[in-house]
Amino acid sequence: MDADVIISGAGMAGATLALGLARGGMKPLLVDAQPFEARVAPDFDGRASAIAYSSFRQWRVLGLAGDLEPYAERIGEILVTDGRTPGASAGRPSSAFLRFDAAEIADRSEGEALGYMIENRRIRAALAAAVRREGIEVQAPARVIGVDFSPGAASVRLEDGRVLAAPLVVGAEGRASAVAAGAGIRSTGWTYPQAGVVATVRLDRPHGGMAHEYFLPSGPFAILPLTDQRASLVWTESPARAEALQSARPEVFHAHLQRRFGDLLGGARLDGPVFTYPLSLHLPERITAPRAALLGDAAHGVHPVAGQGLNLGLKDAAALAQVLAEAARLGEDLGSEVVLDRYARWRSVDNIGLAVAADAFVRLFSNDNPLLRAVRGAGLSAVNRIGPARRFFMQEAGGAVGDLPRLLRGEAP
Ligand SMILES: Cc1cc2nc3c(=O)[nH]c(=O)nc-3n(C[C@H](O)[C@H](O)[C@H](O)COP(=O)(O)OP(=O)(O)OC[C@H]3O[C@@H](n4cnc5c(N)ncnc54)[C@H](O)[C@@H]3O)c2cc1C
Repeated sequence: MDADVIISGAGMAGATLALGLARGGMKPLLVDAQPFEARVAPDFDGRASAIAYSSFRQWRVLGLAGDLEPYAERIGEILVTDGRTPGASAGRPSSAFLRFDAAEIADRSEGEALGYMIENRRIRAALAAAVRREGIEVQAPARVIGVDFSPGAASVRLEDGRVLAAPLVVGAEGRASAVAAGAGIRSTGWTYPQAGVVATVRLDRPHGGMAHEYFLPSGPFAILPLTDQRASLVWTESPARAEALQSARPEVFHAHLQRRFGDLLGGARLDGPVFTYPLSLHLPERITAPRAALLGDAAHGVHPVAGQGLNLGLKDAAALAQVLAEAARLGEDLGSEVVLDRYARWRSVDNIGLAVAADAFVRLFSNDNPLLRAVRGAGLSAVNRIGPARRFFMQEAGGAVGDLPRLLRGEAP
């Protein structure tokens, strides 16, 4: 055996699992198709992620706080507005809005922010440094092309001809998982006729830690606060328009922002390149098979409307690390079905529930039907007026609802 667990895919979810397993006394081995250093380059991933406060607690336990805190912006408030144009919503506040304030749940969240905004390149760099500090073995660049299963082991075939073996292999390669294919796990899903456009801007006035989400007829538009008086903009366009925006000169891009979003962004200036991401829904029929488990986007690819995709992957990592640490302490076989069933039961409902809710949300909000506008406006206003409902949604977004794995409570796995 080359390790206790081979993790195919050293993205943010896979690397977090490797650290959790090492804390639980196991020997993980990370394999990734891309060079490990490439992922920390500024142009590798232009996104920033809204990280729920429970997800951030896990990274604190895993030793990432020192590397992440200088780059983590506290989200103190979230304003959700159903607006025909964001400019209009800013000038004349719509009656259909929902406001979340971290202070309202401070007694239950121990004063935590609603979440933290962190650029993905900073997260990737912090994870890479922690993986090195823990002495976790990384094989990269090395692409997994297949997996064979025998009664005692999963044998992972690499493109360069090598074969690695362990009692358990985890597929964390995103939506096209070689482990899922090798284990015969089929999936369902569809592509949205939209692409996510992501740009970082420097603002000419302080954002005050407030995140805005506007539901426009063309799709959601978010302004998310970053450190250093910057913001990450995320909105959806048709794939052709997104591509045109990505290759536009900065002055053309600014003109587009101004025309579309009016004064809302003030004198925001582009800070770095524009990125686009295809959007799709991906759900495997199950997340485990004998000697195989899926995690992160390999287990659930969701629309980014609620900013929860990575948070789900981090919950998977915390749950799987705990299940395997407990199994290791009892001397159980890490790849056995009884052990993996515990992980599948723990995570399946949450993952499918969020994927379906995000899909319904996008359909309900990405249109200009007057009847639907009235219904969703009434819904937003109602939740805004009912304190317990508002607090429930805040805790749900903070990842603090349900049976939380120990790492998400800030404890060792
Ligand atoms: C526009 C946008 C905004 C988003 N915003 C948020 C947000 O605010 N909050 C949030 O929680 N989520 C957000 N998400 C979702 C989040 O980005 C993803 O859920 C997350 O990146 C998935 O991480 P992962 O580690 O599962 O997969 P990936 O990041 O896809 O990593 C997969 C890794 O596997 C490797 N790999 C692939 N194939 C192989 C192979 N055959 N062999 C070996 N290695 C392989 C790849 O090189 C890669 O390193 C957003 C998504 C989009 C598109």
